[in-house]
Amino acid sequence: MKTKIRSTFISLSVYAILIACYAPQVFPWGSNAHERMTDAACDSLPPEISPFFDKHRQKLAYHSNDPDRWRRELLFRIGLKYEDDLNSGQITEDLRQVFETHGINFPQNASVSLRGKNGRWYITIGEQEYPIRKEADKLYLLGDKADIFENRSAEPVLLGSEGDTHFALDTKEKLLSLTSLNVYKTGDRAEGPRHFLDIDIYGPYPFVELPHDYDEAVAKFGVEDVTKRGLATWRIADYTRLLSEAMKSGDTKKIVGAAGALAHYIEDIHMPLHVVKNYNGQLTNQHGVHQRFEDDMVEAYGEQIHLAPKMASELEDPLEAAFDIVLDSYVYADNLLHADRKAKLGEATYGTPYLEKLFRLSGWIAVQRMNDAATATASYWYTAWLRAGKPELK
Ligand SMILES: [Zn+2]
Repeated sequence: MKTKIRSTFISLSVYAILIACYAPQVFPWGSNAHERMTDAACDSLPPEISPFFDKHRQKLAYHSNDPDRWRRELLFRIGLKYEDDLNSGQITEDLRQVFETHGINFPQNASVSLRGKNGRWYITIGEQEYPIRKEADKLYLLGDKADIFENRSAEPVLLGSEGDTHFALDTKEKLLSLTSLNVYKTGDRAEGPRHFLDIDIYGPYPFVELPHDYDEAVAKFGVEDVTKRGLATWRIADYTRLLSEAMKSGDTKKIVGAAGALAHYIEDIHMPLHVVKNYNGQLTNQHGVHQRFEDDMVEAYGEQIHLAPKMASELEDPLEAAFDIVLDSYVYADNLLHADRKAKLGEATYGTPYLEKLFRLSGWIAVQRMNDAATATASYWYTAWLRAGKPELK
């Protein structure tokens, strides 16, 4: 029986890969969400600097996804919903090229197979074996050079493990019900912790246990723990300085790059699940909630999310302002988790009925946090410019 299942997987994965295609990159908050917040921030600036940001808004939106690109890069996505196509069995030249373009050597006559080993699943392409990670209705392919967003280590999770009850990849039907298999390549391993701060590890609200000064925090908890729990606030303060320096230098490319990256980190900590230890519902049997909220829901109901941020204002202390954002986000986290749990009640899957309910229950959180993120981004840009001595931006 096992052999039979395995061979089904082998042929399925070959066919699935046949329909591999390039796809736009998808990121936490969704790359789309980052672009929208950054674009909205461009409309919230005082007249002294708004022409510059208006002129470069497209590039700024693009660069606001850079930090996720530094973390890991989506190489390609394999659509898995085309059962009718699953019958030719050949690896096409096109497909070979897709792999090779992305640095995956795919020799002639190479086999592709999917197999379970010690409770984990792997896809083998040629000689190379890549662990697979699954989350909600999506699978992620990991390699020695691969990682996935929101997974803070490259370790693939157990499929069908405890606390992972809503989905186990054990039948052909379930494999075919997946929307996609995303193939990622890892970037800078140090980048991950800069996107979050799990503030509730530091005692009870309002988390006074954590010194806001980085050196003091490290002296108290050690560099390893401080890093593991997240560095976003300090990263934001650093990038504000970097943006000021870029503005002083007058180098447009540097300014746009730094402003885009700064926007990303600010936007990330507006997402309530970027500031709590239960960041993916993994502690409350709500695995995958992170993506369901910020990606699936925001994507599905994007048209109903209207951004109208407030005008930028000067920040007295960029680091303290970042810690304030973390506290603001924190108070939404339980609300969001509660909405996910209620939306799932009576639903077998996380399909459209679930998403509809989730949006009804928590769409307001997305709207509110995205608006606040755009306002904060504009305020940080404005503050960096004031601190640079109000240079003329071209
Ligand atoms: Zn991020």
